[in-house]
Amino acid sequence: MSRLYLNILIFILFICLVACSGEPEGTESDQLNANTLQSAPDQGASQTANPGVSGPVIVYSSRQEHLIKPLFDRFTAETGIKVQYQTGEEGPLIARLQAEGEQTFADILYTVDAGNLWSAAEKGLLAPINSEILEKNIPAHLQDPLNRWFGLSVRARTIVYSMARVNPSELSTYSALAEPKWEDRLCLRTSRKVYNMSLVATMIERLGETETQKVVEGWVNNLETRVFSSDALFIEAIAAGQCDVGLVNTYYLGQLLGEDPELPVALHWANQNSSGVHVNISGAGVTTYAKNRAGAVRLIEWLSTSEPQYLFSELNLEFPANPEVTPVALVASWGDFKQDKLNVEAAGRLQAKAAMLMDRADYR
Ligand code: FE
Repeated sequence: MSRLYLNILIFILFICLVACSGEPEGTESDQLNANTLQSAPDQGASQTANPGVSGPVIVYSSRQEHLIKPLFDRFTAETGIKVQYQTGEEGPLIARLQAEGEQTFADILYTVDAGNLWSAAEKGLLAPINSEILEKNIPAHLQDPLNRWFGLSVRARTIVYSMARVNPSELSTYSALAEPKWEDRLCLRTSRKVYNMSLVATMIERLGETETQKVVEGWVNNLETRVFSSDALFIEAIAAGQCDVGLVNTYYLGQLLGEDPELPVALHWANQNSSGVHVNISGAGVTTYAKNRAGAVRLIEWLSTSEPQYLFSELNLEFPANPEVTPVALVASWGDFKQDKLNVEAAGRLQAKAAMLMDRADYR
């Protein structure tokens, strides 16, 4: 065997040792820095006994470590229950959960987009939770009607516009962006992104397929340029004068405003005189074969209470799912808005239809 092949073999073995070990990455959830927390009073967690909880809670998460670790650390500090997690892309994580079956390490699946949670639930990977705390803290439209997953933070997808070239009085609905007045002025992210599939899925539920297709065709007609690979890129294109309006998840604008408070791009809450702004969630469910179900339920319940709910807005500029909690100042500065109260499960149920419709409309 040549030296080159030997090196390649050693490299593959090394990658396999790292990636295939099957052990979740640990977090010692006790590295608490209480100074990072600004918080309202706690509503749910108790610091006393943990009945039924056996060892750490293990989470498979598609969220990045810096968005979840501070929450898990805080949970451990309050309850004494440790959390271990494995992060990765949602598709492979769900596939892994399915492949592992009864052998899985995971007690919780935590991911973004109701479409992903819906698909995990449809595959039988999540078990229902009957919890008074979750029913009280999480509005009905942000949780699975069968209680297999619950929204924990809200992600609003709405209109952004150039403060230099658009008067907000010109803006109203998602559908109105299909009007000829926006020709060559619209920038959109690719239709392959689940955020746009979910938006179009809810439009199908609200408007029907024929009307939705007309709207999407109008958007495609109005595109200034090819579609973008991220929300942040076309917010920058709006700021730079390339296009005038777009559709974004609000936290992307928040991140860019954090870097440049003078950015001449603003939010407009869509559909305020009709269905409300399209919202999606990050959310979690307990796995069907959880070994530590009691600990898992405890963690998800705790995440719905005030302190972690505030942290969701602080860490990623999302909206708390719990309507009793006020978000961080920048997010609060965008003002109250009417959310679409259509259950977010529609994003999953109609995802395939939405993808086919966007294809027919030539939205790439
Ligand atoms: Fe995102």
